[in-house]
Amino acid sequence: MSSLRFKVVEEASNRKAIPVEIPAERPAAYYAEKVFNRQKMFEYLPRETFEALVHSIENKEPLPREYADSVAQGMKQWAIDNGARHYTHWFQPLTETTAEKHDGFVEHDGKGGMVEKFSGKLLVQQEPDASSFPNGGIRNTFEARGYSAWDISSPVFIMDNTLCIPTVFISYTGEALDYKTPLLRALAAVDKAATGVARYFDPEVNHVVAYLGWEQEYFLVDEALYDARPDLVLTGRTLMGHESAKNQQLEDHYFGAIPSRVEAFMLDLEIECHRLGIPAKTRHNEVAPNQFELAPIFEEANLANDHNMLLMSLIHEVARRHNFRVLLHEKPFAGINGSGKHNNWSLGTDKGKLLVAPGKTPLDNLQFITFVANIMAAVHRHNALIKASIMSATNAHRLGANEAPPAIISIFTGSKLAEILDNVANSASDDTIEVGEKKNINLNVAQIPELLIDNTDRNRTSPFAFTGNRFEFRAVGSSSNCGSAMLTLNAAVAEQLTEFKAAVDARVEAGEELNHAILAEVRRLIKESAPIHFDGNGYSDEWKAEAARRGLDCETSAPLIFDAYLRPSSVKMFTSTGVMTERELKARNEVKWEMYTKKIQIEARVLGDLAVNHIVPVAGRYLNVLLDNVYKMETLFPGEQGREMSGADRSTIERIARHNKAIIEEVTAMVNARKEANRIESEREKAIAYHDTVAPRLETIRHHIDKLELLVDNEMWPLPKYRELLFIR
Ligand code: ADP
Ligand code: MG
Repeated sequence: MSSLRFKVVEEASNRKAIPVEIPAERPAAYYAEKVFNRQKMFEYLPRETFEALVHSIENKEPLPREYADSVAQGMKQWAIDNGARHYTHWFQPLTETTAEKHDGFVEHDGKGGMVEKFSGKLLVQQEPDASSFPNGGIRNTFEARGYSAWDISSPVFIMDNTLCIPTVFISYTGEALDYKTPLLRALAAVDKAATGVARYFDPEVNHVVAYLGWEQEYFLVDEALYDARPDLVLTGRTLMGHESAKNQQLEDHYFGAIPSRVEAFMLDLEIECHRLGIPAKTRHNEVAPNQFELAPIFEEANLANDHNMLLMSLIHEVARRHNFRVLLHEKPFAGINGSGKHNNWSLGTDKGKLLVAPGKTPLDNLQFITFVANIMAAVHRHNALIKASIMSATNAHRLGANEAPPAIISIFTGSKLAEILDNVANSASDDTIEVGEKKNINLNVAQIPELLIDNTDRNRTSPFAFTGNRFEFRAVGSSSNCGSAMLTLNAAVAEQLTEFKAAVDARVEAGEELNHAILAEVRRLIKESAPIHFDGNGYSDEWKAEAARRGLDCETSAPLIFDAYLRPSSVKMFTSTGVMTERELKARNEVKWEMYTKKIQIEARVLGDLAVNHIVPVAGRYLNVLLDNVYKMETLFPGEQGREMSGADRSTIERIARHNKAIIEEVTAMVNARKEANRIESEREKAIAYHDTVAPRLETIRHHIDKLELLVDNEMWPLPKYRELLFIR
C-alpha cells in the first residue's frame, strides 16, 4: 500500500499559512538596508575615499589601489555593525547559479586572540580555488587558477550574515569564466556604439545605459510532496505523471485570487527583496496551476541581472520557511505551461531619454525609428545566435514544444509601428510620412510626426516583442542567467549601431545632409530586416514553413543550435565588439554541450531508477492481485460464465504486462544508448548523441508509465500524482 503517498498528501493539505513578521516601518524605511549603497558609503567612508569610489563607479573606471584599504575598512565596519561575520566573493560561473566561498573576518592578533580584519586586497581580488567550475578547457592545470575581482558597479550586500561582494570570474590568462564579465563588456560596447548614434540627435549625450526588467515565473510545490518525488528533487521537473483531469483548461488560475499560504510566502519574499535593494513590484498568479510571477522595477542591466541571480537563491530560502519548494525549471510539468523569464530590455541616455520609446518631436521620433531599425537589423542578422543564447537542455522543453515561444526568433511590432516602419521604408527622401490619422508634417529634419503607440497591442506568441517603450525578449528560460541573453543582444546591437554610424558618417562626408543620411540608412535596414518582422501566430505550423522560406533559423536541436556561437558572423560580432574572443566562445560551447549532456544523463538515470525500482514492481504487484482475481473467479465459475466475468481484469492484465515489458525494454535500450554516447570523445558529438538517442526514450518510457498510472490501483501508486502536486489548498 502506498501509505507514504497518502501521508504526504494529507500533510500538504493540512498546512496553514505561516504568519509573516511584517516590519513596523514602511518599505521605504528598510529598502536596501542590507546594501552598502551611496548613503552608507557616505556614512562609513572618509570623504576622499567616498569621492574616489563614486567617481570610479560613475565613470566606469577601476578603483585606484590607494583607496582599496580604506573602502575595505568602511565596508567591513558597516558589515559588522549589521551582523555580518563572513565575507565572500559572489560570482556567476557557467553553471547557471551563483557561487560563493565564505571566509570569516577573523585573523590572529599576534597575542593569542583574534581581530576582525578585512583588507583592500581581499576586497578587490581573490583566487578562489575554483578549478572544478566549468571552463571548457580554458584552464588546464598549469594555469588552473581563477580570479574573482570586485565589480564596483554592483553594490555589495549582506545575505545570511555574510558580506557578499559581486565579482567577475576570470582565468589566469584573462578569459571570462562567468556571465558577468562578457555582460559588462557588452554593456560597455553598446554604451559606446549607441552613444555615437544618440549624439546625432542630442550632442550632449555622454552615455547610453541598457535597462533590464525581468519577470520571473516559477512554480510552488508543497515540500512534503516535493520530497516524495525523487525526479523533482534531482532534476527539477517531473519525469512522469499523467495529466490531471483538471489543470489549466478553465483558465481560472491566471490573475486569480492568490491562496493564503502563497500570499504569506510572497509577502515574506518581497520584504526580503526590498531589504536587499531588489525593487520587487509586481506579483500574480500565472496561467498554470501553482505557477506565479514576480517582477521588479527595471534597472541598469548588470545590476538587474545580479538582482535576478540573488532573487533565484533568495526565493528558495524564503519558500522553505513556508514549507514550499520553488521550481525554477522551464517545464516542471508536462501538459501545462512552462516558465519563462521575460527580459524587458531598452536603451536610455544619461539625459533620461528612452531610445526605444516614441517621443513628442519629429526628431525624437526619427531617433526612435533609427534605434528600432537597428535593433531589428541586429536581431535579424543574428537570429540563430540570439536563439542559441537562451537555449539549454531545460529551456528546450518550452521552445518549439507546443508552447510559446517557438524555436524561431522573430519580432512583433504591433500594427501601428509596422505601419510606421512601412511608411518610412517606402518613402522617397523628401516625402512626408503618413502615420494613421495623425497630420503630416513636412520637415527638413525628418518626416515623422508625433507617434502615439500604446502597448495594448499584445501578441503572446512572439519571442521578441515591441511593447511601447521597450522590447520584451520572452524566450529566456526561467532558470537561466539573463546575462547570456543580455550580453548577446547588447553585443549584436552594438555591432549594428557601429556599422550604422560608419555608413551615415560616410554619407555625410560625401556631402549628404545628416538627417537624410540617417533616413536613407534606416530605410535600407528596415527593408533588409523585413524577414524578422512577424506579427502573426507564432504557434502555427504555417509560421514554421514561412520562417524557413524567409531564411530564419528553424533548428530545434539544442546541441546544433549552440553551433551558432561559432559561425563566422558571430565570432566577428563578438570579437569586433570586444565582448568575447574566439577562444572564449569555443570554451563556452564546450561547456554548453557538456552541460546539455549531463542534464539529460541525470534525467535518464533518475527515470531509469524510478521506472525499474518504483513503477514496474508496483504495477507487477497489482498485476498479481488481478491474476489472483481471475484465477479465483474462473475456478469458482468454470467455463464461459467465469471467463466473461473476468474479462475486464484479463484485459487490464494484458495492458499492464505490455506496458511493464515496454518499460523494461526501453530502459535497457536507453542505458545502452547512454553507454554508447559516453564513449564519444567530442563534447559536441556526445551532446548530439544524447539529444538524438537518449532524450527521446525519456518520452517513450514516460508514456508507458503514465498509462500505468491510470491502470494501477490508486492506493498502490507510489508517487504523488499531478492532481496532488498542482493544487495548493
Ligand atoms: P507584462 O504585461 O509583460 O506582464 P509587467 O508590467 O508585469 O509586464 O512587467 C514589465 C516589466 O518591464 C517590469 O519589470 C518593468 O519594470 C519593465 N519595464 C518597463 N519599462 C521598461 C523599459 N523601458 N526598459 C526595461 N524594462 C522596462
Ligand atoms: Mg511580460
